[in-house]
Amino acid sequence: MNKEFLYELLRTGSVSGNEAEIEKKIYDYMQGKADEVSVDELGNVTAAVNTSSPFRVLMTGHADEIGLMVDAVTESGMLKVTGIGGIHVSEYPGHKVRIYTERGVIYGAVVSTKGIRDNKDLSPSDLEIDIGASTKDEALAAVSLGDPVTFDTDVRELLGGRICGRALDDRLGAYIVMEALAAAGARGVSVGAYAAATTGEETTMNGAYFTASRVKPTLAVAVDVTYTSDYAGIDIGETGDVRLGAGPVVCNNPSIHKKINKMLRAAAESAGIAVQTEAASGRTGTDGDVMHRTGIGVPFALVSIPLRYMHSPAECADLSDVENCIKLLTEFLCSLTPDVDLKPF
Ligand SMILES: [Zn+2]
Repeated sequence: MNKEFLYELLRTGSVSGNEAEIEKKIYDYMQGKADEVSVDELGNVTAAVNTSSPFRVLMTGHADEIGLMVDAVTESGMLKVTGIGGIHVSEYPGHKVRIYTERGVIYGAVVSTKGIRDNKDLSPSDLEIDIGASTKDEALAAVSLGDPVTFDTDVRELLGGRICGRALDDRLGAYIVMEALAAAGARGVSVGAYAAATTGEETTMNGAYFTASRVKPTLAVAVDVTYTSDYAGIDIGETGDVRLGAGPVVCNNPSIHKKINKMLRAAAESAGIAVQTEAASGRTGTDGDVMHRTGIGVPFALVSIPLRYMHSPAECADLSDVENCIKLLTEFLCSLTPDVDLKPF
C-alpha cells in the first residue's frame, strides 16, 4: 500500500463541488498504471484497462467530502455558512477550520459560546467563523461567497495499524479502486476494468451519474465506508454487526445484485480474505444507487470499508481493511470473464 499517496489525498480539501485539486492528484498518480486515464467536465477521473472489451466493470470511490460553504459575511467580518452534505453541526463550534479561497487556504475559528454549546437544535445558520477580520470589507477581501470550508485536521496514525482523520469517507474508497485497477491490470485482467474517483457523492451524486452514463458498465461496484458497531452507544439493530479490522463489508440489499455478491465472496475466499456482511433496506445512500439507474440499468454491488465516527473530524479506519479491500477487488476483477451471465436464472 502506498501510504504516502493515501495520506496526501487525506490532507487535500475536497468539499463536494470543489474536487479539482484531489482529482488532479489522482489523475497524475495513475499515469502509467492504466491503459487510459481521463477526466470529464465534472472532474471525475477514470482509469481503465482493456477498453476494447465489451464486458466492462466500473468501480467507484467518491473523492469529495462533506463540509461547509461561506454564504454571507456580517458587518463585523464574521463568516456565515451553510452545510454541504450530511454534516453534524454540533461538532463545529470551538474548532479550527480551513477556508479554501481562490488565493489559497486561510484559517478560522468556529465561534463557541454557552448559548451555542447548549443549543440542542443547532443549525448551520447558527455557526459563525472568525477569520480575524474586523469588518465585512476586510473579510470579503480574503474570502468569496461559495468558498468551501473543512475542519483544520489531517490524518494521524493511531495504535494497531489504525488511522484517524477527516473525510476518510470516502477518499479511502477512491484510493482503493485505483490501486485495485492498477493491480488487476498488472495481473492481466481479461475484462474491461474501470476505476473512477467520483465527484459530488455527498450532495448530488452527479459524478457517478456522469461516469456510469459514459462508461456504460456491464456491472458496477461502489466502494464506500460503512458504520461499525464495535464501540459503546451503537445499536447493532441499526448498523449490523460490523467491526474495524475484520475485513471489507459486502452489502445485502434489495437493489444489490446477488450474483455479483456471490462472485465477490468467491473472490474473497480464493484470496484468503475474511469479509463481513451488512444488510440494508431500500437505497444504499452511495454512488451505487445512481449508477444502477443509468442507461438500460446497471447491476451493482457495494463493498464498504468499516469506519468509526462517520462524518466527524476524527473518522477512524483500519489500514488492514483498506489493504484487504484492494486485494478483494483485484481478485474479483481477475476472476471475471467476458461470458459471465448476470441473469438470475
Ligand atoms: Zn461516502
